[in-house]
Amino acid sequence: MAPVPLGLAARAGFRHSALGPLRRAVERAAKAVGGSRLVVHNLPPCVLPRLDGRVGFAGTKPYMEMLFAHGAQANFGRLLERTAAFVPACDECTERVACAGLGKHLLRAGVRPARSFAGLRVSE
Ligand code: SF4
Repeated sequence: MAPVPLGLAARAGFRHSALGPLRRAVERAAKAVGGSRLVVHNLPPCVLPRLDGRVGFAGTKPYMEMLFAHGAQANFGRLLERTAAFVPACDECTERVACAGLGKHLLRAGVRPARSFAGLRVSE
């Protein structure tokens, strides 16, 4: 599960991991679990290594209503709108219904959905 800068994390000097180390961590984890499938939360699948379909996208639960221990309630998708955004390619993506978009820190770094991502190739 990739951490997101919300709640306490946002107030504690949160720093995003760079995408390269995250991708390498996913590759190492997939290798460590052998033939099992890995499911990743909070990172859009269009920026993850495919690893022969062994890496699944858990979705970012944009429709989930969160009830916090201190009593506050919030829609997780609305919270994520502060941290992520869609790009034009997302309009064609099969994963959009469960995706919160690309992290704004990734967009600022020039990261875009991989054209080879299966979810963007259905209409080709
Ligand atoms: S909706 Fe956009 S950000 Fe999400 S997986 Fe698809 S292309 Fe990537």
